[in-house]
Amino acid sequence: MASHRIVIVEDEAPIREAVTEVLRGAGYEPIPAADGEAGLAAARRPGVSLVLLDLLLPRLDGMDVLARLRKTHPTLPVIVLTARGTEEERVAGLRGGADDYVVKPFSSKELLARVEAVLRRSPERPAAVKRLAAGAATVDLLRQEIRAEGADGVALSETECDILVHLANHAGRAISRNELLTRLWGITSGAETRTIDMHIARLRAKLESAGGGEGERYIVTVRGKGYMLGPALRPLDEDRAAGGDA
Ligand code: CA
Repeated sequence: MASHRIVIVEDEAPIREAVTEVLRGAGYEPIPAADGEAGLAAARRPGVSLVLLDLLLPRLDGMDVLARLRKTHPTLPVIVLTARGTEEERVAGLRGGADDYVVKPFSSKELLARVEAVLRRSPERPAAVKRLAAGAATVDLLRQEIRAEGADGVALSETECDILVHLANHAGRAISRNELLTRLWGITSGAETRTIDMHIARLRAKLESAGGGEGERYIVTVRGKGYMLGPALRPLDEDRAAGGDA
């Protein structure tokens, strides 16, 4: 069974820990976060299948987390955990782009049923790339590294992983620098496109050193358009990669 990564954003430790345990027990990979900012960062990491989001949170309110997440990850499933269970809050959550809600206190059975239902209808799921073949090496997006036989792993930053996931999810299409900026940081102005070029250059160098060959073969520059997944990078389906998972 493929393990889904599920982010839990909940400031009340007993609830956060209980949900983490329930999800782990059901074979999911839980990622707990105790405030809105940490939750948003965790939700934006590659390979996340679902976010469980409390609304009353320190540092960044749940509705703000949802709004910001929707700018960069419009289809990532979110289930709102609502404490008060007022209709107003539920409607606000759904209107803000949540996929479903669970009213606290909830049973573990009820929570798992919602989680399963949302994951089943999620459009993000088939696109959850976890590994890429990169020439002679393998990119592991969950462990954030490039591995080649007989060599030390090359670490990737979160941004580099996010770029690879986005390129892989849109293989065959040139992605503009602006689209990457919007997707990765929610930035809509074109002022910082050079940042993207810098990340791409670094990524190419890492892929080259681990996988061999020219960096351009991994990430192709499409003149006047942006970047595209190159012929030397290929998403691996999870069946073939089975055995490497913990
Ligand atoms: Ca709370």
